[in-house]
Amino acid sequence: MVLESKKQMEFNKLNITQLSAKDKPFVIAGPCSAESFSQVMETATQLSKLGIKIFRAGIWKPRTKPGEFEGVGKIGLEWLKSAAAATGMIPAVEIATAQHVRQALASGIDIMWIGARTSANPFAVQQIADTLKKELSKPTKFKRELTILVKNPVNPDPELWIGAMERIALAGITQIGAVHRGFSSYEKGLMRNTPHWNIPIELKRRMPNLTILCDPSHIGGKRELVHPISQNALDMGFDGLMIECHIDPDNALSDKYQQITPAVLGQITNQLVLREDSDCQSALAELRREIDEVDERIMELISKRMSISREIGNYKKENNIPVLQPSRYHKMVTRRVAQASELMIDSDFIKLVLEAIHEESVRQQLEYFNPHSQDG
Ligand code: PEP
Ligand code: MN
Repeated sequence: MVLESKKQMEFNKLNITQLSAKDKPFVIAGPCSAESFSQVMETATQLSKLGIKIFRAGIWKPRTKPGEFEGVGKIGLEWLKSAAAATGMIPAVEIATAQHVRQALASGIDIMWIGARTSANPFAVQQIADTLKKELSKPTKFKRELTILVKNPVNPDPELWIGAMERIALAGITQIGAVHRGFSSYEKGLMRNTPHWNIPIELKRRMPNLTILCDPSHIGGKRELVHPISQNALDMGFDGLMIECHIDPDNALSDKYQQITPAVLGQITNQLVLREDSDCQSALAELRREIDEVDERIMELISKRMSISREIGNYKKENNIPVLQPSRYHKMVTRRVAQASELMIDSDFIKLVLEAIHEESVRQQLEYFNPHSQDG
């Protein structure tokens, strides 16, 4: 791991991704929450038969409202140890406080993840990093290699996500991976947490060796979305998946609408297609060329539109007509939004685009002909 001049840290590929069979995606699976000894054992047994090597289970659950199921706590670590001993799987838990870190380490947990609500809080992440550093510096008989996965923060801020990983890296952890679980939004859409795929793609661009997993369960929030979101992620070059699996999803104590049974997970992983890099690469290169062409045309059209707009500005100035004419603008937006649905363009999206173009047109009309208005 090196600190570049631009202060962009680099991360190494995670060793754990080699744990999946060649023709299968790398998958971490397990229940949202450990609920009982038998649920943990049964889920782990079924997942292990599918060839899953890493078993996830939350035992401390951050909940939006008080009074909801907050996880079984420390006892869950014992269940995970038993499940690991019985199946040979590697357990992974979510940690959010210094105490969680100490208890997980004391129970021999080597894979931990930082949840979305925690990675949004630099104080909490720093406390985790400091505790990891302190605990790992204590003399032990054998050296441990910890893997820390950092979920994206709830808010769509790539810097906060990267910052959380940097804090962990600065504590001396070299095995760090990112988990994309989507971002909270006020608007309730098709997905529980909006994916904003450009953000993990930007992470990959800046840190090409960073391992990025996708958590389709928390992105989609619905069982039927697990498969398409997983395929989407693999097609985009994600390194693997973290999927919530429960033996009886309808009766799960948390996130029941998004958990799938191990049997369904088996069907999904059998159907997921791992595309050959070369197939993807040439198809991708072609599509990118097309995108570049379209972008160039969009630029030319915007430039043309701005030049017409400046002409209009000139006309308005000469004829003493105000620059802003709200009624004309509203008519234009209404017409375009109606047109958008015929063209399969999202109406909220097109409103944003039109607003931005309009704002720039007005700015140009005001400034182009009064370039020194600020000074006078
Ligand atoms: C979880 O993995 O169960 C969890 C709470 O996830 P997130 O932090 O992504 O909400
Ligand atoms: Mn969950």
